[in-house]
Amino acid sequence: MSDCLFCKIVRGEIPSNKLYEDDAVYAFYDIDPQAPTHFLVIPKSHIASVAGITPENAAVVARIFTVISDLAKQLGLDSYRVVSNTGVQAGQSVPHLHFHVLSGRDMTWPPG
Ligand code: 5GP
Ligand code: ZN
Repeated sequence: MSDCLFCKIVRGEIPSNKLYEDDAVYAFYDIDPQAPTHFLVIPKSHIASVAGITPENAAVVARIFTVISDLAKQLGLDSYRVVSNTGVQAGQSVPHLHFHVLSGRDMTWPPG
């Protein structure tokens, strides 16, 4: 999508601190980290949120989780949280599917 922030990051129109990229998945550090390690993993193709995942596009979600597992191992993370805020009330501020990976501090449950 031409005016989507994360689509612009994928296209390189907005700079990002990239961790990983393949033909379908892009991972980069969050600009406003909420933990000592905080990065985002997204599909390169535009999906608005978890609510936009369908049988036709779901394969990229499995790839995203493979990337998360691999990156966590590479970064030496032995405990981390994966979060995807879906909808405004849940805290979603960027309407392009993304999975937060947070690590390096104690976390509370339930999340606020
Ligand atoms: P959400 O609030 O939708 O769950 O998560 C969006 C995340 O994107 C936030 O954690 C926010 O800090 C991050 N973010 C927003 N704009 C940018 C940006 O331009 N670059 C990067 N790297 N992260 C961003
Ligand atoms: Zn997008």
